[in-house]
Amino acid sequence: MTRTGTGFAGMVLDRWSRPRGWARPELLGAGVETLPGVGAALAKRLRALGVETVADLLLRRPRRYEQAADEIPISQLWGDDEVVITGVVGSVRVRKPSLRRAIVTAQVSDATGSIGATWFNQPWLADKLTAGTPVRLRGRLSRYGFDVKTYDIGDVRATADFAPVYPASEQVQSSRLRELVRVALTAHARDVVDPLPAELDEALRRDALAAVHFPHDLAEAERARERLALEELVLLQLAVLGSRDESAVAVPLGEPGALVARYREALPFALTPHQEAAIAEIDRDLARAVPMQRLLQGDVGSGKTVVALHALLRAVEAGRQGALMAPTETLAEQHFLTVEAICAQLGVPVALLTGSVRGSVDAEIVVGTHALIQEGVALPRLAVAVVDEQHRFGVEQRRALATQSPHVLHMTATPIPRTLALTVYGDLAVSEIAKPPADRKPIVTAWVGAERSSEAYERLRVHLDAGRQAYVVCPLIEKSETRLARAAEAEAERLRRAELSGYRVGLLHGRLKPAERREVMRAFKERELDVLVATTVIEVGVDVPNATIMIVQEADRFGLAQLHQLRGRVGRGTEQSYCLLISRPKEELTDAARARLEALVETTDGFELAERDLELRGEGQLLGTRQSGLSDLRFTRLRADRALLERARGLALALRDEDGPWQDEAAKLLGDTVPTSLA
Ligand code: ADP
Ligand code: MG
Repeated sequence: MTRTGTGFAGMVLDRWSRPRGWARPELLGAGVETLPGVGAALAKRLRALGVETVADLLLRRPRRYEQAADEIPISQLWGDDEVVITGVVGSVRVRKPSLRRAIVTAQVSDATGSIGATWFNQPWLADKLTAGTPVRLRGRLSRYGFDVKTYDIGDVRATADFAPVYPASEQVQSSRLRELVRVALTAHARDVVDPLPAELDEALRRDALAAVHFPHDLAEAERARERLALEELVLLQLAVLGSRDESAVAVPLGEPGALVARYREALPFALTPHQEAAIAEIDRDLARAVPMQRLLQGDVGSGKTVVALHALLRAVEAGRQGALMAPTETLAEQHFLTVEAICAQLGVPVALLTGSVRGSVDAEIVVGTHALIQEGVALPRLAVAVVDEQHRFGVEQRRALATQSPHVLHMTATPIPRTLALTVYGDLAVSEIAKPPADRKPIVTAWVGAERSSEAYERLRVHLDAGRQAYVVCPLIEKSETRLARAAEAEAERLRRAELSGYRVGLLHGRLKPAERREVMRAFKERELDVLVATTVIEVGVDVPNATIMIVQEADRFGLAQLHQLRGRVGRGTEQSYCLLISRPKEELTDAARARLEALVETTDGFELAERDLELRGEGQLLGTRQSGLSDLRFTRLRADRALLERARGLALALRDEDGPWQDEAAKLLGDTVPTSLA
């Protein structure tokens, strides 16, 4: 990256080259409405895209860059293709049709002719566009003359050719975002300061930001991205290092004994080689006095719970307690049903902890939500804790557990590459269930426009008539859980009278009392219900192998990760399973919504989907995806940045005991991760 800067980055630097004391980093946290040209209405639309502050704009990662456009002599401009012209500025005019609007028009000529080039809402450009300045402009003919999309002023290399394309929405298009990013960079680049010491990397964050948005070429864009990713990784690594207690001692649990042997025999199936390998790794960890910190990774339905139960029973046979912690009450209840069914056969008492329990709990195995350990529930003999679906184990929880240093097994269905597992958890050992039990068939997914939804229900009834069960997931239309519940109730009622008349339809939503919820799940499990109409409370953990088809209504409203989790509710038995995604008419959808649904149809590989999700984020977040826990990583590439991560780890180790702004930045990262999946 050039320090002197040319093109747009150079312009930014011109404005920036003032003493460092001038920087006011706090301004980056200001709302977008503080930017020129951004009113309340636009701010609201930006918020819907996850852009609230100036920093959110600056840190929005371009999804890709536009291909170079044809360069055209001015006299041959015609039609409305996007093209590039190169010329010299003549006269310049600024008009202000209203308080918030400004139009800059510069007469630009080349050897063949001359045209008025127009910029909207960037009045400061008038100062740059002095007569005789060379420019390179990308845009198209409009009734205003040449409507400029991207540009180089002064230095006419190729910035204009590689315009960034951002995750956008119908309300705020990528071109508008591009304009806003430029405004934000121009106004605030000098407020961007480096949280890491200068020795870390010659390139400064603000240069990297300018270059990642408006690069001269794709190589420069990639270098800038790497610079920003490195910083993210160092900070995250520092955060993780800082939250570890290296002196912790756990109870060694020795060799597997008679109880887990009986458990094996009680299982109705043989474990897969992947499950066996994971169990062997866990057993090795449990024999040591160093607390286990292991991630058990496997896609939805791959059979993690069986492995987790083994770990919990190891604690029990050593005369101690095991705890299974889930992100939601529904999932905790689900786990409880599964665990209890097995443990009843083994004579091991299991307790389900709900929100109201306080004080000390004495069951051998305790199942509850993540929140429990933060709320003062004491597990006096805890030796093994299994933490399900919490992608970053928050500091508070680490602290709560640190007093007794149990062996911890984290489980996740969102596949995290080993490199990122290390990043997110620090030195974490990883066991992977790379394949589900052998007789599983991949779920067949179809995307159905709303106009053909009756066919989807027809298909569903075929399954029901064959003795199978089904889920119907209600649209995510309401923000409030109560209204969502009411809408789900109404939908279940409607389905009972219409598409599903004659079938036994149950209802599951977040406003049912725990006992009611348990009863519904029990009834569904025991085939007293044919169809479960549900909100996203069934997203994780619900396990009914006889359910072979799922309809997701208004699937375009869900996030990608969420749809993948939902889909994981079927395909859990030996039968071929189906997931039918019903959406509004395809042409009404945003590009991002279409991309999400296409991705789901194309692949059931959670790894692949996790990566596409990150690419599409922006909008995905708004639509209620569960936090993947990696949301602080904006510029890091899941798979590609292994070498960068190694470097970041080294740097973080070198910095961890030194004072500097990086300590605060790192602490902030972990600080706000606790509530994400508890919210
Ligand atoms: P996960 O927690 O990874 O989503 P589960 O542990 O809930 O997956 O397992 C999904 C389903 O597969 C459950 O019905 C479980 O009983 C079943 N299962 C697990 N392991 C095996 C196996 N080795 N063979 C056959 N079925 C299995
Ligand atoms: Mg599970």
